[in-house]
Amino acid sequence: MKFRVLAFALAAMAPLPTLAAPKAEGPQFGAFGIDLTARDTATWPGDDFWSYANGGWSSRTAIAGDTDAVGVAPTLARESQERVRVLLEDLAKSSRADTNGRRIGDLYASWMAQSDIEMHGLRPAAPYLARIADVRSAKAVQGLMADIDYSAPIALGVSANPAEPTRNIVTVSQGALGLPRDYYLNDEARYVAIRRDYLVYIERILAAGGYANPHARATAILALEVALARTQSTRAEQREDSRSRTVTLATLQAELPQWDWPQLLKAAGLEGATEVLVSDVDALRALGALTESQPVSLWADYLAYRFLSDHAEVLPNAFASARFDFYAKTLTGVTTPPARWRRGVTLMNQEWMGDAVGQVYVARYFPPEAERQVRTIFDDVKEAFRIRIEQSPWMDAQTKVGALEKLSTLTARIGSAGQVADYSTLRIDRTDLLGNVVRLARFRRERERQSLATANPPDYPVNPVSGNGYYYAAANSITLEAGLLRPPFFDPAADPAVNYGAIGVFLGHEMGHAFDDQGSRYDAQGRVRDWWSPASRAAFAQRITALKAQYGAYDVLPGLKVDSALTLGENIADLGGLEAAHLAYQRYVARTGPAPILGGLTGDQRFFLAQAQTRRTKLREDVARQLAAIDTHAPSVLRANGAMRNNDAWYAAFKVEPKDKLYLSPDQRVRIW
Ligand SMILES: [Zn+2]
Repeated sequence: MKFRVLAFALAAMAPLPTLAAPKAEGPQFGAFGIDLTARDTATWPGDDFWSYANGGWSSRTAIAGDTDAVGVAPTLARESQERVRVLLEDLAKSSRADTNGRRIGDLYASWMAQSDIEMHGLRPAAPYLARIADVRSAKAVQGLMADIDYSAPIALGVSANPAEPTRNIVTVSQGALGLPRDYYLNDEARYVAIRRDYLVYIERILAAGGYANPHARATAILALEVALARTQSTRAEQREDSRSRTVTLATLQAELPQWDWPQLLKAAGLEGATEVLVSDVDALRALGALTESQPVSLWADYLAYRFLSDHAEVLPNAFASARFDFYAKTLTGVTTPPARWRRGVTLMNQEWMGDAVGQVYVARYFPPEAERQVRTIFDDVKEAFRIRIEQSPWMDAQTKVGALEKLSTLTARIGSAGQVADYSTLRIDRTDLLGNVVRLARFRRERERQSLATANPPDYPVNPVSGNGYYYAAANSITLEAGLLRPPFFDPAADPAVNYGAIGVFLGHEMGHAFDDQGSRYDAQGRVRDWWSPASRAAFAQRITALKAQYGAYDVLPGLKVDSALTLGENIADLGGLEAAHLAYQRYVARTGPAPILGGLTGDQRFFLAQAQTRRTKLREDVARQLAAIDTHAPSVLRANGAMRNNDAWYAAFKVEPKDKLYLSPDQRVRIW
């Protein structure tokens, strides 16, 4: 249930139209944790539950000019930005900061030193552009593509080895282009217009970089990306873990002879690997062929454009404003740039040193007592999930053994940071922002290279301030970042029905990922291993086919359908999360006595209402369209309505009947867990 934010748009968070002032005691929202004024009580719950829960808020809330979305995630992000700003400014001034603290402070200071950035002009980028200008052969182009300093349509990295998750392995896959794949290939007028603006963007970047004939060069670059997009895997294909294969370097060389693999690994700073996890083989083959068939000068232009575009925000304003005009204005409809400090804080949290910033944040803002409370809910939801598996009518005994074993080893990181890197070997210069960013990427790559040598439990960086939550299959572990564990997701002062309906469903959702169409391929130790009987797998497939059919019929916008393959895993998790958390809540009530009526609402009603209020989000239409192409989550409205209408307890709680628009007859409801 990660909050996906777009490349630029994560900077742009809405002002808080209705942010409640912190109270001395009691919950942040309303008398028991739900904002009753956010509802639209004229909407019948059974017709459109999201609007019943959020319609009042929706009708009085507009999306501000410097933002692409408004709602729960943007509000939490904005509050976190304000908290972190204070921490960063203190560190930037402090002479007593420790190793990591000093580097955080200096890096943030180099971001805020805008006049230095203008004064240096293109000089900091010159050495990197000179290396590109020196390439004379396709092999040299390929070498730069693999180099950590450059981004390219091929991506080399490191991840847990699916066969042995305590070991890491080098990964090779297709790399991102400047736009989502479909934007290059769709012939509708809207996309033709976007490509026209994208061409102007490329041209502006090249002109700012001092390249002659920018229009002609940009035209050739766009044509090249269109050709690449044709060969690349779709987003839905990319989330299929089974497309990845572990192969020896010799096998890879035989399958993809267009590339010199030992040389490529060396260029990537990952030399010495004997095995790699490869995906998107067809795209890599086509890319390799294009590096040979297209002129070296075109590839040099392409690499220069990508370098300048990807670093535009840390270069002078000519680059940064070009990037804002295209990626924010054109693609998302944001009209004014957010304050510079906001963007800096976001980059610090999400792109640069999020683990170290998070450590400071957690110490200040996330008390151990909050962790204890959330862990109790985690334990309850996990027990409910166990009962659901045990009682499953379609899973056979043999497969249940594997599923229960997997659930029993599932762990949770709640709020706290993972391993924080020791940045003592990283040089941060208060007057060299681009250099800092490049050195940071190299620093990370060196850590990845070192991680190949030893066996360790799978770890992965966590940016606690970002406020994400996710399941990581190789570790069989759920992470809930501290920035998330605030109202409306979790409020220590809220009614239990509210917390089970909000963070409880979130936890159940993440557990659901352990058993979704992809996660179910990993076992209790995080290995890719098939522990399913053919009969159980077939019964599972039948249920998810029915779910796919439901979601495939929904519209994101008029004429634009939900991608039911891309969103399948999230939709499975949404259903399971709701079932498990509701059972956990029922068991809580059985343990502690009947739930009171509060604000005229039963406990079950509050549970579902709290859940729907965590889905409170409004997006600009362009953003909704873009997310439909790349996001693995269905739109928020559907995540509420789509999951609820498959849940029997929701029908009972709100007296939903056949005449209602969301009604499904019991045999049409999909229940997986
Ligand atoms: Zn998810």
